[in-house]
Amino acid sequence: MCEQLRKQGITDTRVLQAMERVERHWFLDSALDALAYEDRALQIGAEQTISRPSTVAMQSQLLAVEPGMKVLEIGTGSGYQAAVLDRMGARVFSIERQKSLFDHTRPLLAAMGYRVRCFLGDGYKGLAEVNYGPYDRIIVTCGAPEIPEALMSQLKTGGIMVIPIGNDETQQMLRVTKNGPSEEEWSVERYGDYSFVPMLGGRQMR
Ligand code: SAH
Repeated sequence: MCEQLRKQGITDTRVLQAMERVERHWFLDSALDALAYEDRALQIGAEQTISRPSTVAMQSQLLAVEPGMKVLEIGTGSGYQAAVLDRMGARVFSIERQKSLFDHTRPLLAAMGYRVRCFLGDGYKGLAEVNYGPYDRIIVTCGAPEIPEALMSQLKTGGIMVIPIGNDETQQMLRVTKNGPSEEEWSVERYGDYSFVPMLGGRQMR
């Protein structure tokens, strides 16, 4: 899998080493064992999917994580992306809005020895009520209609957010660098088209 990722332009050795060590099949139903190391998104229940390994690698590389950084993830899902960031040396905080996934993944990550802190809630708002921020990095693993202001306010100055922005079908991967508090000071780079499950918030919470 990692050989394939190198060919696809993943050069960050911390990403490659972490993805070499984190076994993706533990984050999936055992019925999917045979497919776990293919570059495919797969079902994880609650109508959600684990992202393709190449997408996890690309988002992790764009995030430019250094050991010890505080990283906030929106969309814990299977926990795989969070585990990769943990293995890269990040202090990971992750929010999931679906209770069934939260109830499954939080103990799974703990049992495997990952120190990811999991929260149930609406990631559109970030983690404002508990005081762990501001974060060095924010990674959004569901498609958002726009850059959530609440998340930008929880990002450190100089921090980076990687987020797919678009509609329910396709999104563009954006890397937003927060050079200062006001929107005019944010710089945005675009990294191609992706297809994530939509970010659901507020009214749509189930
Ligand atoms: N990072 C995950 C990807 C899971 S798919 C992994 O490695 O498996 C995206 C996840 O985002 C889904 O689990 C979905 O339930 C969750 N999600 C969608 N909207 C959300 C929101 N507003 N807040 C938090 N999580 C959300």
